[in-house]
Amino acid sequence: MSSKAQPIETGADDATRASRSGSESFATALPILPGATLGILGGGQLGRMFTIAARTMGYKVMVLDPDFASPAGQMADVHLQADYTDHGALKQLGAACAAVTTEFENVPAASLIELAGHTRVSPGAACVAIAQDRSHEKSWLAENGFATAPFALIYSEGDLDAGLADTGTPALLKVARFGYDGKGQVRVDAREEARAAFREFGGQPCVLEGFVKLECEVSVVLTRSDAGECVMFPIAENRHENGILEVSVVPARVPDSLADEARAMAHAIADRLGYVGVMAVEFFVVGGRLLVNEIAPRPHNSGHYTLDACVTDQFEQQVRALCGLPLGDTRLLSPVVMVNILGDRWHDGGPHWDALLAHRNIKLHLYGKEAARPGRKMGHFNVLDADLSAALALAERMRDAL
Ligand code: AMP
Repeated sequence: MSSKAQPIETGADDATRASRSGSESFATALPILPGATLGILGGGQLGRMFTIAARTMGYKVMVLDPDFASPAGQMADVHLQADYTDHGALKQLGAACAAVTTEFENVPAASLIELAGHTRVSPGAACVAIAQDRSHEKSWLAENGFATAPFALIYSEGDLDAGLADTGTPALLKVARFGYDGKGQVRVDAREEARAAFREFGGQPCVLEGFVKLECEVSVVLTRSDAGECVMFPIAENRHENGILEVSVVPARVPDSLADEARAMAHAIADRLGYVGVMAVEFFVVGGRLLVNEIAPRPHNSGHYTLDACVTDQFEQQVRALCGLPLGDTRLLSPVVMVNILGDRWHDGGPHWDALLAHRNIKLHLYGKEAARPGRKMGHFNVLDADLSAALALAERMRDAL
């Protein structure tokens, strides 16, 4: 690391206070049972699938999202159409909901702190504040002894030379905040390219990362309860294209020892954070070693296979953790391949749903998004087959046929 991490934007002290006074100590009687109202910040597809799970279990759901056409808002009992910093809306959410969670890491940590004054909030603001900023996340991982790709924190052009000396080239310059699905990151091969990229990002704080040679990528989706019980879904092997998850294969085709190590690292990260809720840890596999790529304080795209292939899916598990219920059984019922459906498929008369739905072992999930844009996640499908290689072959065939 060539620069020191700057303080967490909301104030590290505030965030730390929130983790102490949030979910852990707010006087909510647990477990929260069906009939109660649960709240969620963010109304995208993850919020939608949380809402479906919660309503299936008999809870009412209130979604806060500024977008009137939000995928979760369509499914919720109440959609509060307001900004995440709107004090009135936060107050309403806090008053109506027995507990509130989030579907994405970019919700301002200050809003979680505000909500934690009114109701149970999980995950806590301190965890979200770490995960929502790559510089805090990478620094926290390094300080706590978790291996990552070589990185440097970049706050000014002057940091780039020392940064590149640390990471080598090629490297990736990534904006510290609000980047997702490969957005806000660019590959740089030389000093001048790095400077130009930093200027292109408007000089905002960035992380420079060594471009590592990936053997594969894997992820662990886990759930940790208030009491510290931690259960994990089977590890997913993930393939990305242009920085966007394309396919997850489960069980991951990696040695048992590597899978055990990934589980142990993810568990240790959750314990160290004092995390409560569903969390994903993404890993790079490089030279047979695991490097932590990212922590997501929420259910994860690479856990969508659980919707059809596990006894409990990641969204029911989010409800269970939020409500202080016993965590569900994470057993895999069938090998599975998950394929994301991006907006790119909406051309030439496609997508060809008939081809997909002709297969009885394929489960389709669409998110109710009206505007299909290239790279936008519109849905996914899961292919279940006792023979993983048959599932993979059919998944690839259907991806091309769509
Ligand atoms: P991220 O948004 O940082 O998770 O990056 C999205 C995807 O880009 C990752 O899942 C990898 O496939 C690729 N990627 C990101 N960072 C690196 C890196 N340092 N070296 C190689 N590939 C990377």
